[in-house]
Amino acid sequence: MPVPMKVIEHINQAKDTLISFEVLPPLKGKGIGALYKHLDPLMAFKPAFINVTYHRSEHVFKKRADGSFEKVVVRKRPGTESICAAIMNKYNVDTVPHLICGGFSINETEDALINLHYLGIDNVLVLRGDAAKNESAFEPEPGGHRYAVDLLQQVSALNNGIYIEEELKDTQKTRFCIGVAGYPEKHFEAPNMDTDLRHLKQKVEAGADYIVTQMFFDNAKYHGFVKACREIGITVPIIPGLKPIYSKKQLTVLPKTFHIDLPPELANAVQKCKTDADVELVGKEWLLMQSRELKKAGVPVLHYYTLGRPLLVADVVKDI
Ligand code: FAD
Repeated sequence: MPVPMKVIEHINQAKDTLISFEVLPPLKGKGIGALYKHLDPLMAFKPAFINVTYHRSEHVFKKRADGSFEKVVVRKRPGTESICAAIMNKYNVDTVPHLICGGFSINETEDALINLHYLGIDNVLVLRGDAAKNESAFEPEPGGHRYAVDLLQQVSALNNGIYIEEELKDTQKTRFCIGVAGYPEKHFEAPNMDTDLRHLKQKVEAGADYIVTQMFFDNAKYHGFVKACREIGITVPIIPGLKPIYSKKQLTVLPKTFHIDLPPELANAVQKCKTDADVELVGKEWLLMQSRELKKAGVPVLHYYTLGRPLLVADVVKDI
């Protein structure tokens, strides 16, 4: 496959279900070697593309020598755009940087998009981002976007050669393929599923080429979501997002963080495990069962959130 290619081109040209992975940028100070070590065992499966998440900056309070506190801004995992370029360069694979509204003004967003364009990266997953740690609800940056659909409109405009400075002449059109997020179990802020689906449809009507779902552990939730999307006229590919279970802690952390349910059969099996190594075995079998069923159902891509467990994911993909 030639690189670069758009995610939608990969999907349209594929004869079978594709594989893709999602990774986090390394923690600041760690270097990119750890990320390559994470990716090396996964590259044997010839992923169609690799997503790299985006992490907004946070305000933290640093103690000064005199005992007072100073508010400083830190970005723990910087470098999404350049990491995408580095991965593309090293493995000859397409990459999908995530781009968020939170923490960005529209000018900074435009600069990030121009940088990606120069780097030859033609894919973005457009997201709102969550509230900053010190905020109770999401607040856009002054002069930034409130919803993913607003950011998407900016990317679409750039694809038509429309930059913020309207007086620019003979502008280059970017060629971003745009993905957006969808929630089989509803986005936690949406008052109901119908409203959430209407907002998702807005993103598609504004130019989204495909949807990637939040993780789910019950395939019936994904199939129900796809059916509901089709019924309201969303026709773009819907890529299932899958995550392995590997520790007992996840039984409470995942529902709290991602607002999703774990089916009783999975939760009970994990609960009975004596060690996290036992949990990994349960998690592997569950992920394999989910993956096989989804592939049989003809999903376009199996997208794995590999975060921290590349070998477990590799074990599953090998056995699908
Ligand atoms: P939106 O589509 O803007 O929706 C947010 C909420 O607002 C929803 O409840 C929706 O129903 C509602 N809404 C949407 N449009 C409107 C409107 N016009 N009027 C009123 N209400 C509206 N976060 C990160 O920080 N970095 C990442 O890299 C990252 N990657 C992710 C990858 C995937 C596949 C997924 C599923 C999530 C990811 N997230 C990431 C988390 C994401 O940023 C959060 O879930 C965030 O809370 C919502 O983002 P969104 O793009 O779905 O927002």
